[in-house]
Amino acid sequence: MANAKAMALVRTAIRRGELAPAITKECMDCGTQAVEYDHRDYSKPLDVDPVCHSCNSKRGKAAGEHDHVIILPVVRVTKEQYDKLQAILEQKGITYSQWLRERIERAR
Ligand SMILES: [Zn+2]
Repeated sequence: MANAKAMALVRTAIRRGELAPAITKECMDCGTQAVEYDHRDYSKPLDVDPVCHSCNSKRGKAAGEHDHVIILPVVRVTKEQYDKLQAILEQKGITYSQWLRERIERAR
């Protein structure tokens, strides 16, 4: 399994409420607020660690195929802000990743 597929499965699990968003957790390596999930092995797509941006870059690449790299802007929000954002996105009928993608398109 390649990285994009594994990341898509993580996003699906978050949307279904099976996995809490990374920003609601602490970085597994340094204890600050986590901003993303890190895969150590893409063949285990839901075996992920919440990490901050700097620890994730220190960890290096996971095992498995790397078909492309997606760099998303890191948006630091509180849990309250995140919940508010989720409510707005729900009204619009779009997911958090779609919203991020739109922001990237607009920034280009
Ligand atoms: Zn960290």
